[in-house]
Amino acid sequence: MRYHFLVHTIFAFQNLVGCAHFSIDNQPSPAMKEEISPIHLSEEEWRRRLNAEQYHILREKGTERPFTGRYYLHNEKGVYCCAGCGLELFTHEMKFHSPCGWPSFDREIPGGRILKKPDYSYGMVRTEILCARCGGHLGHIFEDGPTETGLRYCVNSLSLAFKKKD
Ligand SMILES: [Zn+2]
Repeated sequence: MRYHFLVHTIFAFQNLVGCAHFSIDNQPSPAMKEEISPIHLSEEEWRRRLNAEQYHILREKGTERPFTGRYYLHNEKGVYCCAGCGLELFTHEMKFHSPCGWPSFDREIPGGRILKKPDYSYGMVRTEILCARCGGHLGHIFEDGPTETGLRYCVNSLSLAFKKKD
């Protein structure tokens, strides 16, 4: 991931937009089946829908600088959803503090919400994680997690929006 850091230095002011930007706070969750139906938008539509930093992470598979994301040290109770389409991905119970510098989760909300794909970029062998509904890049998953699942979903804050639990 460090190859991205220089690129992202220019985006240090990132992450001013949250869940509310997509108006998902007040919407009830659609039925599971409907949620996972893939949505396809043109890149132009994605550019309109996302800010520049989110577009780079979600649509161009970028990586935000570690220790900078709004959800890295975030401990509120609620649900983390895809910043691209609002699909609920993780809850606060699944989050753990990781020294890696990105929000980390040890499991996902069930239902096939997250796709896993081999990623051989930058001379590394990793598994990319993507939103199953909009195809947005979330981050990577590693098998070095400290909890009983042994998994570490390493996710960009810019790929996430947060819905606080009432
Ligand atoms: Zn999505």
